[in-house]
Amino acid sequence: MQDTLNSHQDLPALLAAQRHAFVAEPAPSLGQRKVRLATLRKAVLAYRARFQAAISADFSHRSAFETDIMELMGVVQAIDYLSKKLRRFMKPQRRHVGLYYQSGKAYVSYQPLGVVGIMAPWNYPLSLTLIPLATALAAGNRAMVKPSELTPRTSALLQEMLAASFPKEEVAVVLGGPELGADFSRLPFDHLFFTGSTAVGRKIMQSASDNLVPLTLELGGKSPALVAPGYAKAEAAAHIAYGKLANGGQTCVAPDYALVHEDERDAFIAHYQQAVARLYPKGPDSDDYTAIVNQRHFDRLNSLIDDARRQGAEVLTLGNRAAKPRDRTLAPTLILGATAQMAVMQEEIFGPVLPVLTYRTLEEAIDFINARPRPLALYYFGATDQQCAAVLARTTSGNVGINNTLLHVVQDDLPFGGVGPSGMGAYHGIEGFRAMSHGKGVFIQGRWALPKLLRAPFGKLAKWTMT
Ligand code: NAD
Repeated sequence: MQDTLNSHQDLPALLAAQRHAFVAEPAPSLGQRKVRLATLRKAVLAYRARFQAAISADFSHRSAFETDIMELMGVVQAIDYLSKKLRRFMKPQRRHVGLYYQSGKAYVSYQPLGVVGIMAPWNYPLSLTLIPLATALAAGNRAMVKPSELTPRTSALLQEMLAASFPKEEVAVVLGGPELGADFSRLPFDHLFFTGSTAVGRKIMQSASDNLVPLTLELGGKSPALVAPGYAKAEAAAHIAYGKLANGGQTCVAPDYALVHEDERDAFIAHYQQAVARLYPKGPDSDDYTAIVNQRHFDRLNSLIDDARRQGAEVLTLGNRAAKPRDRTLAPTLILGATAQMAVMQEEIFGPVLPVLTYRTLEEAIDFINARPRPLALYYFGATDQQCAAVLARTTSGNVGINNTLLHVVQDDLPFGGVGPSGMGAYHGIEGFRAMSHGKGVFIQGRWALPKLLRAPFGKLAKWTMT
C-alpha cells in the first residue's frame, strides 16, 4: 500500500522515484505489460460497486448502470483491446531502404517514453483517467495521475485502488485542484496527457513548454449535429437526444447544438420530445437521468437558458417535475431561435440543453460550422452519398459520427482526439500506443559498402548529374 500523496512537495520526489525505476527497467516485456493491464482490469472490476456509489454521490445522482455502460465497460474493453493488440503494436516496423543503401535494414522501434503525467476532468472520472493510464502502461511507461477535485469521492477511491494495485514507482495518484494541477503540469514529464477544457488546456501547454514536454490535449468545444433535408427526423432526433442527455449532457462529444432544415424544424422538435419521453419516462426525475455535477455548473446552465430567453429565444422545458425534485437535475431543454450572439451559442453547453438552429441550404449549414472553431465531433444525419462526402470533405472536426452520436468514441481501433482548439494528438487504437511511445528510426548498415562511394574524395563522381 502506498502512502497518500497530496502535497505539492511530493510531486518532484514522486517523479524522480518513477524515473529512477524506469531507468533501472527501461524496456518492460510484452508479458510484464500484460500483467500490469490485467492487474488494472482486476482492480477495476473489484471496485466496481464502490465506484458506482462514489460517482453517484459526487454527482448527487447517476445510475449505477450508466456508470457501467458509459465508463466501466469502456475501460475494460480498452484494456482487453490493448492486451490483444499489444504484441503487434510493439513489433518493430520494417521501412523501405533507398537504392544506394540497399542491403541495409531500416525499421522503427517503439520504446516507452518514461513517465507520463495524466490530468483528467470530472465528467467521466473513471474512463478519462483509466483509459489513458491503460494506454501508458501498454506502451511500457510509468504514470502519475491527477484526477479532478470536482469528484472527490471517486478521485480518492481511484487513489486507493491504484495504490493497492501498483507500487508508487509504477503508478501513483495525486489529489488536488487547479493549484496542484498547475504544479503538476510544470513537471518535466516525458509526456503529458491532459483531458479538460480548452481554456485550461492553453495554460497546460504553456507550463509544459518550459521543459519542452510533449503533450496530448483532449479538449472540448461545440460539436454540431447536422440533419440533412429529407432524413428521417425520428431517427435523427432519437440519436441526438441520446447523445445530448447521456450523463446529464456532461459529455465532451455530446451534440452541442442541432442544425435542421427550416421546413423540418417542427417535425424534428416533436420527435425530440417523443424521444426524451421514451428515454426518461419520469422526465428529469427518472432514475436513469444524471444530475449536474455541482451548483456552479447548475447555475451556469440556468443562466445560459435565462440569457437566451431574455434575448428573445423560445425555451421548451421537457418532462414534468416532481413536487420535490432531486438535487441539481436540470430538465431536458430545447432552445429555439438562438442567435450566434447568445452565450448558449458562444460557449460549450455541457448540459442537457439543445439549441435547434435552422438552415435553408446545406451550404449555409456547412458555412455556419466552418465559421466556428473546429469541433471535437461532428454528427451528420443523411444518406451516405455525395452530399455526405461533401460535408465530410468541407468540414474539419476531431471525429465524425454518421447517423449516430457518441459511438465513434467506443470504437477501440479508431483514434480519438480533437483538432485545433478541440485538441491536439489522439489516443485509442494504435495512435494511443504510438502517442505514448517513442518511434525510434534505426538503420543497420548492410554488407555492401555502396555508401562509401558517396564520400570524399569524389573524383569523377562529382561529374554525375541527378535526373
Ligand atoms: P478543466 O479544464 O476545468 O479541468 C481538467 C483538469 O485540469 C482537472 O484535473 C483540474 O483540476 C485541472 N485544472 C483546472 N484548472 C487548472 C489550472 N488553472 N491549472 C492546472 N490545472 C487545472 O475541465 P473540467 O471542467 O474538469 O472538464 C470539462 C471540460 O473537459 C469540457 O470542456 C469538456 O469538453 C472537456 N472534456 C474533453 C474530453 C475529451 O476527451 N476531449 C473529455 C471530457 C471532457
